Amino acid sequence: MRVGILGGGQLGRMLALAGVPLGVRCWVLDPSPEAPARAVATHICADYHDRSALEQLAQAVDVITYEFENVPVESAQALAQRVLVYPPPRALEIAQDRLSEKTFFQSLGIPTPRFVRVDTFEDLGNAVEQLGLPALLKTRRGGYDGKGQYLIRSLDDIERAWNTLGGVPLIVEEYIRFERELSILSVRARTGEIRCYPLVENSHREGILRRSLAPAPHLSSMLQERAERYARAILEALQYVGVLALELFEHQGELLANEMAPRVHNSGHWTIEGAVTSQFENHLRAILGWPLGPTEARGQCAMFNIIGEIPAIEALLQIPGARVHLYGKSPRPGRKLGHVTLCEPSEELLLPKLARAQALLGLDKRDEGK
Ligand code: AMP
Repeated sequence: MRVGILGGGQLGRMLALAGVPLGVRCWVLDPSPEAPARAVATHICADYHDRSALEQLAQAVDVITYEFENVPVESAQALAQRVLVYPPPRALEIAQDRLSEKTFFQSLGIPTPRFVRVDTFEDLGNAVEQLGLPALLKTRRGGYDGKGQYLIRSLDDIERAWNTLGGVPLIVEEYIRFERELSILSVRARTGEIRCYPLVENSHREGILRRSLAPAPHLSSMLQERAERYARAILEALQYVGVLALELFEHQGELLANEMAPRVHNSGHWTIEGAVTSQFENHLRAILGWPLGPTEARGQCAMFNIIGEIPAIEALLQIPGARVHLYGKSPRPGRKLGHVTLCEPSEELLLPKLARAQALLGLDKRDEGK
């Protein structure tokens, strides 16, 4: 089978790699001549709007997916006229706009932080009055890894926040002092079969994911069931096919939805070694119309992102069982260059290795919590 992927970053690379044992060959469309997936897939180097490149991709493959949520919706829609495109472009459209995304969650009964649409400076003042402080101003479109956000702590910040982000459609959200950030990865097959992975605990710094622990420590079945209920509601409402990630805040016993990603996700990288079937394989199985694989964890896992510079790989490899993934990207501050996964039968066995890996990666206390 042949799969086309819009986007050729590390997610495309890991999707293509997961396809190799199954005899699945991937084509990626990505404007960068250095797209990480080019090492393992056929690379069409072109803009996402390039009609002849989209046509070339449509002709080469049986089904098309995406690994990057800022792909133009019009391109996904145009492709869907000619060839199967999963997940449905509607999911992409909703996820690209924080306002429609949060409105969609609410329409399904999924709680979110309170939010208000902001188009003018006056709207911003009114929104802050309504929500209270601190409040988080975000661009509705195009933000990722914490970009396009301004934390308004005091009334004096309102003008600065507007000067920094104003002029484009915005949303302001109540600032949640969450206990922790969690995510749930779920997958829906073409038949409607759904499977969910265990909740993952995620730690961010400067808006970038640093560490994921899976299954999330101290995970109650109630929390897992609730997250699965929310994921199912989204998957079914959209008649979704493929892997979906839902990012959540755990706050006072509740789960509040922050955002969804209609694709494989960084907080699911641990599944390559740590789950019976990886998120990448299950995404391919889903979009190709094949049965899904089990999503249970094989043990207690930790995943660390390698960000900005490559650490001492040999020292990391000396940790028994540590699996290092590098994406073939050149180092740049804040850039995700690779990740390391540890997977052990128990938390007791994981903890000493986790401490060793964190020391080598320069992670500190700030990377273990909020
Ligand atoms: P986002 O780009 O919306 O995923 O936000 C990036 C990070 O900012 C999240 O992972 C959270 O750590 C933080 N964040 C986003 N929204 C809120 C909020 N309403 N309250 C508190 N923290 C938030």
